[in-house]
Amino acid sequence: MPDAEILAVGSELLGTQRVDTNSLYLTGKLNVLGVEVVQKCVVGDDRARLANEIASALRRTEIVILSGGLGPTEDDITRDAVAAALGRTQYQDAAALAAIEERFRRNNRKMAEINKRQAMVIEGAEVLPNPRGTAPGQWIRTEDCRTVMLLPGPPHELKGMFEDQVQPRLEAMLPKQCIETAFYRIAGMGESDVDALIAPVYSKYTNPVTTILAGAGDIQLHFRARCSTTEEAKSLLAEVCPQIEKLLGDRIYSNDGASLEETVVKLLRAKNGTVAVAESATGGGLGARITSVAGSSACFMGGFITYTNEMKEQLLGVSSEVIAEYTEVSEQVAVAMAKGVRDKTGVGYGVSVTGEAGPESGSGQPVGVFYVGVADERGAEARRYQFPGDRARLRQLGTQWALDMLRRRILSAG
Ligand code: AMP
Ligand code: MG
Repeated sequence: MPDAEILAVGSELLGTQRVDTNSLYLTGKLNVLGVEVVQKCVVGDDRARLANEIASALRRTEIVILSGGLGPTEDDITRDAVAAALGRTQYQDAAALAAIEERFRRNNRKMAEINKRQAMVIEGAEVLPNPRGTAPGQWIRTEDCRTVMLLPGPPHELKGMFEDQVQPRLEAMLPKQCIETAFYRIAGMGESDVDALIAPVYSKYTNPVTTILAGAGDIQLHFRARCSTTEEAKSLLAEVCPQIEKLLGDRIYSNDGASLEETVVKLLRAKNGTVAVAESATGGGLGARITSVAGSSACFMGGFITYTNEMKEQLLGVSSEVIAEYTEVSEQVAVAMAKGVRDKTGVGYGVSVTGEAGPESGSGQPVGVFYVGVADERGAEARRYQFPGDRARLRQLGTQWALDMLRRRILSAG
């Protein structure tokens, strides 16, 4: 299976205002066809630099895709750069010119002389019509079996051309591929711990390909198997996935893409459970995450944001002696908050978060120390976590671990 490389052309993409989204779109489309993007770059509107990049790309990669730089002005240099890199000439294509002239006529606009440049075609290229814009694309097969394509920069033109013109050509050119994927989300572990645990399994296989993506307290694991038949791809996954599932156990919270809050709401609803929250350091963030899930009203009753010690005492019944003895960032206070919110609201699960989000410590506990508590009919427990990061990350991690502790508590209730 050939690999692809993408060159996004345009000086504006090197600034801070415009992002190269075309390559993301192209990568998604190519992956579905079984083609990996092995390298990509952004090149400004500079003919020599671009020709140089194209020549290098052609030495190492079978499929080279260019986006942008097909306009009519002097700074649209993609056609010239590709011609130079391939050592081919260009000619004015009569059909391409007629299509451009027709487009201007239809829009009642006078065609400027410079628009004729857009009808310049590289010797041996197939013209890819562009009904959504002026600049046609080009598809070139080289003597050494490389494929080069020139696609327009405006995203809607590029997408239309890819679907109408490029995809059918690629499908005809590529060996048939069937792709099967498995997807896990994991909470309660760092990226390096996940990797250390599962590397002995996944490193034995090049197919499926394993990808680990890390977020704040949230790891995504992707497995992609590519074979000539669906059955083969499925059986490769069936060999690897059970081993991974066994190693990670209940640290996997979803295998269908569901977020942690969606998983918790689904679990609670399935068991007719109810929850209320008592939040200090996260200031309502935990309740916000739970209520972001449609249908959470079936299980989420509400909560208290008790930021000061007085509020913890008045609203949740946390004793002032306990706070004085252990500080508000402590296992004892997290337990008392979780019990307090459960008693006050009559829910099945009370969940609490208290911590030091920084940058200064108010309680005397180090910044990054969090306690998460859960209370249910079996009793209450709290865990201590020491998180890394700035205030925003610490607060996000606080809600993450609270949701995960609640999830495990629900699971352990059977
Ligand atoms: P061009 O074909 O280079 O004249 O680009 C025309 C328009 O498409 C400009 O507004 C660009 O900002 C936009 N564009 C070009 N390349 C990209 C890209 N890689 N991703 C998203 N937009 C792009
Ligand atoms: Mg441009």
